[in-house]
Amino acid sequence: MGTPTPPDDVDFGPLRDRLRGRLLRPGDGGYDDARRVWNARIDREPAAIARCTGVADVVAAVEFAREHDVGLSVKAGGHHVSGSAVRDKALTVDLSPMDWVRVDPDARTVRVGGGATWGDVDHETAAFGLAVPGGQDPNIGVAGLTLGGGVGWLSRRDGLTSDNLRSADVVTADGELVRASGDENPELFWALRGGGGGVGVVTAFEFRLHEVGEVFAGSLVYPAEETEPTARAYREFVAGAPRETRLLFGSMVLPTSSYYPEAVRGSRVAIVIAFHAGPPEEGARVLAPLRGHGDPLMDSLRARSYVDFQRAGDSGGSMRTSLRSQYLRTLPDPAIERIAAYARRAPSSGATVFVSPRGGAETDPAPDATAYPHRDAAHHLLIETRWTDTARDDEHVTWIREFHEAVRPYTTGDVALNFLADDESDDRRRAAFGGNYARLAEVKAEWDPRGLFGPIGPAGPSA
Ligand SMILES: Cc1cc2nc3c(=O)[nH]c(=O)nc-3n(C[C@H](O)[C@H](O)[C@H](O)COP(=O)(O)OP(=O)(O)OC[C@H]3O[C@@H](n4cnc5c(N)ncnc54)[C@H](O)[C@@H]3O)c2cc1C
Repeated sequence: MGTPTPPDDVDFGPLRDRLRGRLLRPGDGGYDDARRVWNARIDREPAAIARCTGVADVVAAVEFAREHDVGLSVKAGGHHVSGSAVRDKALTVDLSPMDWVRVDPDARTVRVGGGATWGDVDHETAAFGLAVPGGQDPNIGVAGLTLGGGVGWLSRRDGLTSDNLRSADVVTADGELVRASGDENPELFWALRGGGGGVGVVTAFEFRLHEVGEVFAGSLVYPAEETEPTARAYREFVAGAPRETRLLFGSMVLPTSSYYPEAVRGSRVAIVIAFHAGPPEEGARVLAPLRGHGDPLMDSLRARSYVDFQRAGDSGGSMRTSLRSQYLRTLPDPAIERIAAYARRAPSSGATVFVSPRGGAETDPAPDATAYPHRDAAHHLLIETRWTDTARDDEHVTWIREFHEAVRPYTTGDVALNFLADDESDDRRRAAFGGNYARLAEVKAEWDPRGLFGPIGPAGPSA
């Protein structure tokens, strides 16, 4: 795409007339809310935001951007840490009004609007004892998470979110509505499952559903001094864990809520969050060896509904955030020691470290079966910090960068697209697609030859 026309010269009036939803310009009521994304460090000012109520609005926005040479970005849940959903001086296609969800319990499928969140989907599917493996925070957008691969509590049993996609409706750069599935436009369908979405605007997703009712899940909490032995207990347990079981090992500061015992509220702890997607009595049996580790300060493992466990992942509103994602082939003792050392040096209570196991259905497909390539690593390590005080930006960003460098020798060099930050190198951007980059570039060249939807992967700040 050539240099976009300066937005001051563009008359957005004709687009406003074509939309059923609102067109928001700087200064309009609702503009600031609509441009906000989850990472509060991102402060971008689109030339206009089209609040799309359906496919016709999306087509109108795409055609307008193409005809007037205006840059375009697509926003669903706005949770990508890079803030790629909004770009300065571009037209934002805001899908959040398209949050409909329709379950077909007999066919075990669900169709979801391009602006729905995981909270919307879980609410509807839980009514039928069904679920799509989806995000662990109810506020995350279905669209961004699915297009980046998507992993959730059910993934070791039922696969990545994108592995459960049956079809998608896509508005192309030409403003046409096409369907992508295994039979229709299969290369486009391949690219949508992990390629990040820069090939069109997905207006609807159709997923396969899986049975899930009561699960056995909760946390085991240990003093921070127990970080190394707890990580080793996690490593030992996951090596033989069944597909129904998923664990997170982490270091975090517990909230101050009365849900937690007084002794641990507001303290940094080592934590294992465990989940078993089979009958609760089976889950209790399977997770029993974990309970044998150490002397937990708190044990909240119990039978509970899947949807309640999902809702408990709500991480609240927007915060300043910095993070790094890395895959690990193994988790040797020296890696555990470095992780524990950096966790002890955390700059504030918003700093977390989480290691999660891969395997099971999550890694069954071949690396080129879909655009999501990371099918062989044994663990994923996410280091993240959230804060509010702008004066402490450097301190937090430095901790993340130094931590990442310290564990780099133990990583595969790959990165999850869903956790690719805006300050990453070109090598890391490519590493999000592994060996699938060239094929993705071919799909991009076919469906978006002028680059209307920006580069492959999360886009930069400007149009
Ligand atoms: C608190 C938190 C918890 C998280 N938990 C998980 C988790 O459990 N599992 C996991 O896998 N990931 C998780 N993530 C990462 C998450 O998957 C990504 O942030 C994801 O991109 C969010 O999707 P979104 O729709 O909210 O994002 P957005 O920022 O709206 O979109 C992300 C990218 O996708 C593009 N896009 C969005 N919608 C469309 C569309 N319809 N068509 C074409 N392109 C589109 C956007 O342009 C943007 O580049 C988490 C993130 C946060 C902040």
